[in-house]
Amino acid sequence: MGGMDNPLLETWTTPFGVPPFDRIRPAHFGPAFEAATAAHRAEVAAIGADPAPPDFVNTVEALERAGALLTRVGAVFFNLAASLASEELQAAERDWAPKLAKHRAEVMLDPALFSRVAALHAQRAALGVAPDQLRLLERLHRNLVRSGAALDEAGRARMTAISTRLATLHTAFGQNVLADENEWRMVLGEAELEGLPDFVRVAARHAAEEAGVEGWLFTLSRSSVEPFLAYSARRDLRERIWRAWVMRGALDPARDNAALIREILALRAERARLLGHADHAEYRLADTMAGHPDAAEALLRAAWEPAKRRAAEERAELAALARAGGQNEPIEAWDWRFWAESARVAKHAMDAAALKPHFELEAMLRALFDTAQRLFGITMEERRDIPVYHPDVRAFEARNADGSHRGVFLLDNFARAGKRSGAWMSSFRVTDALDQRVSPIIVNNNNMAKATPTLLSFDEARTLFHEFGHALHGLLSLARYPSQAGTNVLGDFVEFPSQVMEHWFSVPETLRTHARHHATGEALPEEALRALLAARNEGQGFATVEYVSSALMDMALHRHPAPETLDLEAFESAFLAEIGMPEAIVLRHRPIHFGHLFSGGGYAAGYYFYLWAEVLDADGFEAFEEVGDPFDPDLAARLKAIFEAGDTRPPMELYTAFRGREPKVDALLRKRGLAA
Ligand SMILES: [Zn+2]
Repeated sequence: MGGMDNPLLETWTTPFGVPPFDRIRPAHFGPAFEAATAAHRAEVAAIGADPAPPDFVNTVEALERAGALLTRVGAVFFNLAASLASEELQAAERDWAPKLAKHRAEVMLDPALFSRVAALHAQRAALGVAPDQLRLLERLHRNLVRSGAALDEAGRARMTAISTRLATLHTAFGQNVLADENEWRMVLGEAELEGLPDFVRVAARHAAEEAGVEGWLFTLSRSSVEPFLAYSARRDLRERIWRAWVMRGALDPARDNAALIREILALRAERARLLGHADHAEYRLADTMAGHPDAAEALLRAAWEPAKRRAAEERAELAALARAGGQNEPIEAWDWRFWAESARVAKHAMDAAALKPHFELEAMLRALFDTAQRLFGITMEERRDIPVYHPDVRAFEARNADGSHRGVFLLDNFARAGKRSGAWMSSFRVTDALDQRVSPIIVNNNNMAKATPTLLSFDEARTLFHEFGHALHGLLSLARYPSQAGTNVLGDFVEFPSQVMEHWFSVPETLRTHARHHATGEALPEEALRALLAARNEGQGFATVEYVSSALMDMALHRHPAPETLDLEAFESAFLAEIGMPEAIVLRHRPIHFGHLFSGGGYAAGYYFYLWAEVLDADGFEAFEEVGDPFDPDLAARLKAIFEAGDTRPPMELYTAFRGREPKVDALLRKRGLAA
């Protein structure tokens, strides 16, 4: 297929330049990537060969402009590969992920380019550029050095080989986990649904219909497993689904993720040493707010002991309830969510299943968009004329208070085969103002169980707010350079906008206005509202333990002195023993399916990012509590400035401009109900 009939290479005349999804076929990507990488190579070569001495415009800005076609094609490709993977697309991903990694490495390691950037960097104080430009230059220089541009030729060749191989391994890891999640099924008959409330049955029925099977279908999607574990009265079936769930990534012995992990860790360690760091964690954190693994681990450890104490208390409470409920066996991991649900009912008269009709998807979307309007003056209007890549995807136009266009927001809510698990934000286009302002096209993915109506759990509704926080970070960005746009901030600052947004889901005002019964329109009774808020910190021992243990494990794996010899299973159990992992709680993500770490490099030695950012969001939201108004206009305007800034300024500078001081850690423990 030549360029002439390849929609990926055309100018898009769709509304707002959204990709013309209906015309894009998997076969278009190969030729488009060939053309786009060639164009990018030529652009970078031209920068290096420029006879004029390097200046900000002909080097740094020129590099920001370079590769626009590749960015555009890559965004379509990787978004579709994540949420609408077909065999054809997966094959293309296996083929192109390493080729693109090699291409990126070659660009970053281009000696002519690096010598120009290094020359500019050396005289940066005398360039007279604006603060965002100075930061762009400093971070570009640092990124090139961290990619290996300052190494000798052999070192650069090795860095390219490592990046290329890692891309192959990351892709294989992600596809293995997806295969396990797609293939495993538990089909039940009516007699086996004991304890399951209507919303769980409806979703399982729907999943069965989609899959063309009789009965009720449960999969390894979190939105299928967690409600089953919380409500099924059949302990044997809970155990069955739980055992499969924790073995994702190792269900088929032919797909050996342990071997992939060993090789990934060894390559990352080698790369770190080539660049003068002790290990990957030290290398990764050198470019974060934390700065060093010790700082991140100190925060994780500060939460770990109180979390363990709380979890032990929780387990004792659950055991007492279980005994009263006729279960004489000790609380096992597949019991925890079930008895925790009973505990919420017993302690707070908070029956989550009975409240669910108040947390219907449409109502929660109204809550979300209302929050964006009240805090930031942004309105969201659904548009049917914007192309989408699947019938379930919805498109919205984000507008400023004066009605002008701010960006496009695509929302892809439901779990389906071919979509990876979890929830995430991504973009088809980031904003920039290199010439004129280009508006962003942002997408949120969730994995809700599809049903009519779609009733959300408290956690799912909160996740909706979380991902929309990332989306607003992308939509509100006013950075002029693409490298500084939206979520392109230091890794451990990325989760601040998303996590801070979660707070608005549970402000009483939001719940009073929007948590309405989907059929009757009735507001949540005040008593139920109070119970809901009181029960919010319930289970924080469990939640903190499963998260912090995963983050500590991540750090230990990436500080391992000889990962090429790693016996993963032995390491995992020894490590859990060493940190004193409470019985009956497992890692939120075991290494064999830990996609944050192994299906890409972004969160490798970075699972702590969430807790690091939580120090900021807990402390930051307290600012609103201190003034007694969650929509205080002055504070909201200062918060908006963080969303708009992207990476144009250092994160701590942005935060202190908002808060008036640096964050205090105690807000985090208060928020989780773990303060002594
Ligand atoms: Zn997030």
